[in-house]
Amino acid sequence: MNPWPIAVPAVAAAAAGVAAWGAMAPGAQLFGPTVRRTGRGNTLALTFDDGPNPAITPRLLDLLEQHHARATFFLIGRFVRACPELVREITARSHLVGNHTDTHPNLIWLSSARIAEELERCGESIAEATGRVAQWMRPPYGFRGPHLQPVVRGQGYRGVVMWSVIAYDWKPQPSARLIARLRRVRGGDIVVLHDGDHRALGGARQHTVGALEFWLPRWRDAGLEFVTIDGVAGEVSASAPATRQGGKN
Ligand SMILES: [Zn+2]
Repeated sequence: MNPWPIAVPAVAAAAAGVAAWGAMAPGAQLFGPTVRRTGRGNTLALTFDDGPNPAITPRLLDLLEQHHARATFFLIGRFVRACPELVREITARSHLVGNHTDTHPNLIWLSSARIAEELERCGESIAEATGRVAQWMRPPYGFRGPHLQPVVRGQGYRGVVMWSVIAYDWKPQPSARLIARLRRVRGGDIVVLHDGDHRALGGARQHTVGALEFWLPRWRDAGLEFVTIDGVAGEVSASAPATRQGGKN
């Protein structure tokens, strides 16, 4: 009996399964090392994706300030160009900004050249708005393919940032549901939340602010220190260069 008609599809399916896991699972390292925990049990890294969002980000900044919490914002380049003052406000309030691409595509299907272009345009917009160079990137949807890491390294980023807790907050919902979901946050986590909607400026994310109004004082009372991705340790060293080179200004 010829084993191939059975074996080939099985092997192909297994390979596809591994590739899908490598592309999507936040903890997967198949396509290069990523940062996914803070490395210290008394710290918490809150990260906000898909902004800036003029409808939500200013309220969020006030709330974070009220609780002396620093956070990291992964920004979409086209929104940065739409509201550069808001991006300046984010950095002026001691938060960190990172690159979440220019138009939020699924990077798995893009060539290296297109990925490079997405990162460059967003990075340039951040630099123009703030005078600072973004050091970290997060891929849209968390999707990573084999082309991403070489481009990220080639552009001098310190690394790719994933998460240990995802809050499923990208659809409007009662804050109470999100509050319940965030009960599993523990020291050392990197939490991904959304202050923006990648489809358009002005996305409804009030539930995210509402949930943080509940949790920020409780996390602080539990002794957790809020850190930006610059403040994390451990796995970060795996992704090498500490300074940006070339390309951007
Ligand atoms: Zn996103």
